[in-house]
Amino acid sequence: MIVRVPDITNEGLSLTDASALGAVYRDSAWRLLDVNLRVERDGADVFVTGELRAAVSQACGRCLEPSPGEVTAPVDVRLVPRPVTADNVELAADDLDVDFYDKDAIDIGALIEAETTLALPMKPLCREGCLGLCRVCGGNRNVVKCECPERPPDPRMAALKDLASRLSH
Ligand SMILES: [Zn+2]
Ligand SMILES: [Zn+2]
Repeated sequence: MIVRVPDITNEGLSLTDASALGAVYRDSAWRLLDVNLRVERDGADVFVTGELRAAVSQACGRCLEPSPGEVTAPVDVRLVPRPVTADNVELAADDLDVDFYDKDAIDIGALIEAETTLALPMKPLCREGCLGLCRVCGGNRNVVKCECPERPPDPRMAALKDLASRLSH
């Protein structure tokens, strides 16, 4: 959904219907559940504030299986027109919540995707106490109980054993 900056009236816009925004995520496993955003304008500055809730799926940090979950993301973004010259970029550089828009248009879908991504947990787990992948055989230890030793076998030892078995025949 594209909001044209000149179309934002003094009363601002309220975005409260997630389905009206269409598909906002490139990842089809993600879905916007709730949205409650205000879009307001002060001259050329546009403020997007509120909150959103989304169903997301990330790879588990231990076993790499998809781990579906929900995130709630607070939104507090100020958008300013993209500076024409590089000199002006410094003006906003130390203001973390400032983003740029181009050609009088704000892509609300892209903004929602960016804010959702920011709210993702750094180390997602498919479940509490996920056993992760076996470091020896790579098997998912939640699913298969492999008999691998805790430490990978030393390849030099394996070569010696191989030699020993050949000598004994
Ligand atoms: Zn896992
Ligand atoms: Zn294993």
